[in-house]
Amino acid sequence: MDSQAKIYSGTKIVTRFAPSPTGFLHVGGARTALFNYLFTKKNGGKIILRIEDTDAERNKPEYAEGIVKAFDWLGIKFNQIHKQSENFPVHRKYLEKLIANGKAFVSKEEPREEGQRSEVIRFKNDNKDIIFEDLIKGEVKFNTTELGDFVIAKSLDEPIFHFSNVIDDINSGITHIIRGEEHLSNTPRQILIWEAVSEAPRPSYAHIPLILSEQKEKISKRKHGEIVSVEYYQRNGYLPEAFVNFLASLGWNAGDDREIFNLQELTEVFSLEKVQKAGAVFNQDKLRWFNRQYLMRLNDEEFIGKASKFMPEWLRVSNTGEQLPDSRFRGNDIRGNGNNIKIMPLIRDKIHAFGEIPMLFETGGELSFVRDLPDYAKETLLWKKNPDPKTALRHLNEISKLLSAVDENKFTTDNIKSALWSYAEANGKGDVLWPVRVAFTGQEKSPDPFVCAFILGKNESLSRIHKAIENLSNQ
Ligand code: GLU
Repeated sequence: MDSQAKIYSGTKIVTRFAPSPTGFLHVGGARTALFNYLFTKKNGGKIILRIEDTDAERNKPEYAEGIVKAFDWLGIKFNQIHKQSENFPVHRKYLEKLIANGKAFVSKEEPREEGQRSEVIRFKNDNKDIIFEDLIKGEVKFNTTELGDFVIAKSLDEPIFHFSNVIDDINSGITHIIRGEEHLSNTPRQILIWEAVSEAPRPSYAHIPLILSEQKEKISKRKHGEIVSVEYYQRNGYLPEAFVNFLASLGWNAGDDREIFNLQELTEVFSLEKVQKAGAVFNQDKLRWFNRQYLMRLNDEEFIGKASKFMPEWLRVSNTGEQLPDSRFRGNDIRGNGNNIKIMPLIRDKIHAFGEIPMLFETGGELSFVRDLPDYAKETLLWKKNPDPKTALRHLNEISKLLSAVDENKFTTDNIKSALWSYAEANGKGDVLWPVRVAFTGQEKSPDPFVCAFILGKNESLSRIHKAIENLSNQ
């Protein structure tokens, strides 16, 4: 047990993540929720998801659903989920109570702009100093005089954010408020409200640093687009375990050089003490790196199951147009009858996330040759260091013979390589293998010729070599 766990062992910990559903789950929100979750689980507490849906103009129910779904995908489970709007009667009750005991008052206003109220409810501020020990920032001290008698509700039925937020925290028995640093300046007024309403001890606060772009600005949907949304990564074939691991690394580390942790392991090693004070840079390459680590750990079955959903449509339908099951990806002939398993190791080798698969097969993509041989200029067949058409032609003819001799049922990368290797070594690997590879793919960049031949199968490989020979012979 670390020192934090000891400190909290006397009380039952209750935390909450309280998103406003004005958009899909933001990576910053997901990280806040994750830190809440890890802290809570480590200390045997309870965690609540409270959807703060009281701003009717900006909230949408589909966003609330999207947030819940994003947590399902991430594997972050809450003990309880509720909506703030369900608590309106409670907010009203507390407003009445505060007015009755003189801690708040109905204030007559001089409306200065259109739509402004002529009456609001204000908090009676005693202007005390508020000091609290933030679990990440350390001691924070505020003089609350400048807040004045701040507004807590537009009317008895229209509490504003600070008020509802605090009442719900009190009502749920929240012991620890772990949230983004942007809320630090809200804390003094929320503490004032808390102490006016409740005898319960104040919660502990932990304000976690902002997530910044590589240019060190706060990341936002407005500036950075859909990459700030968790849903984007789900859609693009990231693994939730990798995404969670990446989120945890934003502003926290285990204090040694370990980086790979699943959710359970994170729960064991996490502590708020190790959360850094400075902003955390959101580096997509780092995320891709994490994802690749997790991709490499999948067994073949898992990899195929997940990858197949991202395979291009033409690999997913039979010659007669019917949709093929994932088992297709274990078949024997990629071009028609389903030899996609052959291509899986190659795909695994090239991608960082499943969403990159379609690109590999698009025109110009490294695996586009699997579908069709593109039209290519015959000069492409000539090796730059010895661009002599006669040499290329001679080698292609010889390779055609060597390939024909390989048993069709044993047409594997290894067997193909052994059939061609000594000839290539004796006659110059570049001279021999360059035209062969281009014959298979029509491209300057592609996997090695043995793998290409294996993927294409014996018939198609030979037919492409013959096409190249024809191409070069037509001077
Ligand atoms: N609804 C607020 C937000 O989404 C919650 C603030 C808090 O955690 O107290 O920013």
